Amino acid sequence: MNKISFKIGLLFFLAIFLLESISMFFLHDNIIHSRVHDELSALQTRGNNHREILEASYHDETIRHIAMMEARTDTQVILTTPADGIYMSSNKVTDEMKTIIKTTPKNVPHDGLILEDDWKKATYIASVSPIVIDHKINGYVYMFQSTQKIKDLISGLNRHFLLAGLLSLLFMMIIIVFLTRVVTHPLIQMSETTKRISNGDFSVSLPKLGKDEIGELGESIKVLASDLEILKNERNEFLASISHELRTPLTYIKGYAEIARRGETTAGDRDKYLGIIFEEAVKLSQLVKELFNLAKMDENTFSIEKEKVHLLSFFQSIIEKVSPALKENHMELILACPSEHYEEIDPIRFEQVILNLLDNARKYSEPNTKIVVEVRLVDAKLHITVQDEGKGIPPEDLPRIFERFYRVDKSRTRALGGSGLGLSIVKQLVEAHGGTIEVFSSVDVGTTFNIIL
Ligand code: ADP
Repeated sequence: MNKISFKIGLLFFLAIFLLESISMFFLHDNIIHSRVHDELSALQTRGNNHREILEASYHDETIRHIAMMEARTDTQVILTTPADGIYMSSNKVTDEMKTIIKTTPKNVPHDGLILEDDWKKATYIASVSPIVIDHKINGYVYMFQSTQKIKDLISGLNRHFLLAGLLSLLFMMIIIVFLTRVVTHPLIQMSETTKRISNGDFSVSLPKLGKDEIGELGESIKVLASDLEILKNERNEFLASISHELRTPLTYIKGYAEIARRGETTAGDRDKYLGIIFEEAVKLSQLVKELFNLAKMDENTFSIEKEKVHLLSFFQSIIEKVSPALKENHMELILACPSEHYEEIDPIRFEQVILNLLDNARKYSEPNTKIVVEVRLVDAKLHITVQDEGKGIPPEDLPRIFERFYRVDKSRTRALGGSGLGLSIVKQLVEAHGGTIEVFSSVDVGTTFNIIL
């Protein structure tokens, strides 16, 4: 038996046991009380009946009759004179009876009195009824009954109670074992499942556990397992991609360094090779920088420090930065931005977003095309669109371009210096600003990125 079953079972047991004991105790007490009460009042009534007959006809004949009647029962009648002298008894008078008769109080009511009711200690229970003829007490009718009868009755009752108690204890145990199983089984299953998950086995097979909290917990564990699996696969893919990305420039660097080192390489060639090595090294350091950024975003250790930024100046300064590269490609950039708008953004991070988008627009467009950056306020939300007339993104690639290392045309993009990390960084930064980014594109027409803040 596991710990939780034992704990719940024990709690159930203690609670029910306590309840049952209390109710049994009160029931037992009540039954005994009413039984004893019945016996006592029956005895008194019997005495009163004799008394009534005697009041109607106080004759030897009647008295003998009564004595005879009582001699055959388990009760005993004693008739006394007003001065407690014993006049008649149906059976032998014991010392205890004499003591009880002596302690009879003075003013016994006409309806009689119980003289002894201690059925546990005394040998008899007893009652007395006064015989009143012509307003004068003519004597007393004493009734005695051995307490043994009551004792037998009660010990029979106790036996029944004991049996009932034991039986219900047994049933209780069976029910508790069953109930505990029902309650704890799903919990134990879940605990085993989570252990398996932590050991790397994500094939969770929990049965349907209903719609209550336990069912919800089961569902959460399933979701958690699949999330963890996705995360693990993503991490493996990511590591594979990184090593691949690092290997390519390193191969170039190694290869060209090798050739440049050779004695027969001319000074001109050597310069060319060193140039390539330098370019590859720049790419590598760019890649490492981006990876570092991503790692920081994943750990949430980077902070967005928002400040009020004048948007027009912000965009103008970015455009200044990219215009030499655009000029080189004979591309035109058009900016449309409200002149008086301020927005709460982190200027350094947001500049990275716009620079990445503009860099992509430049990389994936032909010369003599234009890029339009438009900033608009729609329903109190800021819409920033970066639109190009480039080669576009095929619809099947569109949903994946924000993934890390995802590139539409692997060989071409690499030649353009793309790592496939740019857009995933953009997306994370926009989301860290509390915004969203969407993309629309058609092949050979152009691509539009829309940021909503
Ligand atoms: P990269 O560093 O390769 O540009 P990104 O994450 O920035 O990586 O972009 C992912 C891929 O999406 C790119 O390889 C490219 O194929 C495609 N892409 C991004 N922006 C554009 C664009 N403006 N026009 C066409 N294709 C684009």
